[in-house]
Amino acid sequence: MADIKCIGILTSGGDAPGMNAAIRAVTRSAIYAGFQVKGIYRGYKGMITNEIVEFKTQNVSNIIQMGGTILKTARCKEFTTPEGRKLAYDTLRSHGIDALVVIGGDGSLTGARIFANEFNFPIIGLPGTIDNDLYGTDLTIGYDTALNTIMECVDKIRDTATSHERLFFIEVMGRDAGFLALNGAIASGAEAAIIPEISTEVDQLAQLIQNGFRKSKNSSIVLVAESPVTGGAMALAERVKNEYPGYDVRVSTLGHLQRGGSPTARDRILASRMGAAAIDALLDDQRNVMIGIKNDEIVYVPFTKAIKNDKPISRDLLNTLHRLSI
Ligand code: ADP
Repeated sequence: MADIKCIGILTSGGDAPGMNAAIRAVTRSAIYAGFQVKGIYRGYKGMITNEIVEFKTQNVSNIIQMGGTILKTARCKEFTTPEGRKLAYDTLRSHGIDALVVIGGDGSLTGARIFANEFNFPIIGLPGTIDNDLYGTDLTIGYDTALNTIMECVDKIRDTATSHERLFFIEVMGRDAGFLALNGAIASGAEAAIIPEISTEVDQLAQLIQNGFRKSKNSSIVLVAESPVTGGAMALAERVKNEYPGYDVRVSTLGHLQRGGSPTARDRILASRMGAAAIDALLDDQRNVMIGIKNDEIVYVPFTKAIKNDKPISRDLLNTLHRLSI
């Protein structure tokens, strides 16, 4: 193993429940292994503005149950320039930091890959995003909590949809991926999920809904992944309303509440395992890999692979939703 003594940790990009559990696991596993740990505030921005403090085990006490991130997060334009990254590198060196653990999504890991190559700097990534859109891992930290939040919200909307006999389009997050919409639809018993990976015609959707109403359903729920490809719930609802004026259509956008809340047991355990695995990876001389989980086993995924590839949607899940929505 290269001579690593001090590990910096940061959270970057979109926040996700379970990031705190990951910060705790990385910090404690690192200290357990004899490393010094430094917490970097506001993601890559803190590397440029020098917002770095030493983390002891007590700094991460009582945070496993908290949503958000105690290290804060930010988006940092300066880090996308070579000059910005050089400033960030100099700050790290001035603190004696010789390896990084970066918790974030696609963009954050892209930044990590570039920085690691530019300065030959050891970095381990943890997939922290509610979107579950990183290739090479079955799950990302925050996804399960967001999915449960969506399920609870849709359950509530269903009560009012049924009472008023309405057709609801509910927009959920996911960036360019349909995992939250598809699994959210299955978990909440929705009629359909409109996701960027699969094109759906309005007529096809209307047919499905019409069949349902004909067979004694008195309300329908369609989950729509927010994405330029799907056009979002509002645009879809407008099209259905124009072409099928008989429906009493409503739209609900779940928005940022999907990002918050106390992480589920599944996310806490995932974050704890992945955080500990990040330190194991450094001890194992791994560099520039994201920690992933496949069939419940920890795996190392090279940054390039995790970022470049699109994670495929399971046809089996689509088929299940379709069969159960009759
Ligand atoms: P997420 O990690 O949730 O996908 P972003 O896409 O906003 O979030 O990325 C977070 C940060 O990662 C950006 O604000 C930027 O500082 C850094 N980053 C993203 N893409 C690049 C890139 N191509 N080069 C360098 N840094 C990047």
